[in-house]
Amino acid sequence: MKVLSVASRYSEQPEELLITISRVKDAACPYRYFKAYVERPKAQASFESIEAGLGTFFHAYVENHFKRILASDALIASNHTLDVPDVVANFRLAFLWEGRLRAPYKVVRSTYGLDDFIRRLEVVATNFNAFLVRRLSGHRVVGVEGELQIRTDEFYIRGKHDLITQYPGGDMVLWDWKTGTAPKPEYYEDFRNQKVQLGIYAVWMRHKYGTTAVRGTAVYLRDGTVELSERFHPSVEAEVLLYAGAWRRRVNAQASYPPIPNNLCDWCGWNPVCPAYQGQSASIPVRSHGSPLPASAPQPASSERRTCFIATAVFESSDAPEVTMLRAFRDLRLSPHPVGRVILQIYDRLGPAAAAIFKCSPMRFMAKRAIRLLLRLLPDLGLPQANDSVGVADSRPVLDRDATRGNPAHTTGCGSHVE
Ligand code: SF4
Repeated sequence: MKVLSVASRYSEQPEELLITISRVKDAACPYRYFKAYVERPKAQASFESIEAGLGTFFHAYVENHFKRILASDALIASNHTLDVPDVVANFRLAFLWEGRLRAPYKVVRSTYGLDDFIRRLEVVATNFNAFLVRRLSGHRVVGVEGELQIRTDEFYIRGKHDLITQYPGGDMVLWDWKTGTAPKPEYYEDFRNQKVQLGIYAVWMRHKYGTTAVRGTAVYLRDGTVELSERFHPSVEAEVLLYAGAWRRRVNAQASYPPIPNNLCDWCGWNPVCPAYQGQSASIPVRSHGSPLPASAPQPASSERRTCFIATAVFESSDAPEVTMLRAFRDLRLSPHPVGRVILQIYDRLGPAAAAIFKCSPMRFMAKRAIRLLLRLLPDLGLPQANDSVGVADSRPVLDRDATRGNPAHTTGCGSHVE
């Protein structure tokens, strides 16, 4: 196989011609690979775990951050660090609005709740700041978040980059942020996949910018800042093409797609429909698009059953963000407690009458302000927390489980978003 050309955009291609790191990783479970990339019409995963959501959120936040630096035409400086409290506040809102009450971003283990992930995010953002000051100060931003494609004489190799920078007189570096921990060389499969991904970056940079002074670098931010790099070399290009081509040919020849349960099943969006679990989730019931909860599952606090009478009247929509947050507070904080339930019963009796008053009253404006003031206190109330969403059989800590082998959970979906 040899490189014919490179592009900064994907072109439409049949599945059997595409090679990406996501595909390579997902192929470890053939059923998962089939659902994600082969099935026609393409099915939607039932949910996205907060494990993956944290990585997606962090990448989007950092992307906007560097786009602002790029727009200002300034070199990266030590005062370009992230505002960690702002990162956390935005994540809480993203979880509440995008996750708790809609489909994605489920906390899928009862032993870990939103606050555990928030603590992890704080560590990741703090480590990122230290890295930026130490390693990126003085760099020029060349590109932020983009597609890359390599056309070979057989297949198309694809990826996405987070950031490209250049230090005056130095290598051009394609940076890939990882919110997990680094793969260990002793767990060869993960380590090799990571090196191949970085090799793809280096090959693309070589052909895109016409220089060999290029490298791809992954930065793992969960435990300190660990860098893993691949500098361009003709032997790297040869290895990437050899490995990627062999993988694609093997998968194209595959005749069946059996599920192979693994330690990512808890976080797998296909779990509710996976034959390995016969319609039941690996360890947790997950509410999903069109996928009913198993009968044994604890029913979710139903936002649909009860109405936020007053807030809906004040904001004139049951879908207003403020109403959504109040519903979350009611379902997650008040409903589980006896005193909270008494308060809700009283509210149910008095709410409709009060709502009628606010509906046509000039007091609506004041009520809006009062509710918004109240909502500013909600993050301090720890909304939502462990046990909010699910009941999980497995109580082993995530890190303990992950440490049992080279677990792709450290990297999959947490920062690796090559596609
Ligand atoms: S739940 Fe596990 S076995 Fe089933 S598709 Fe997902 S990763 Fe594969």
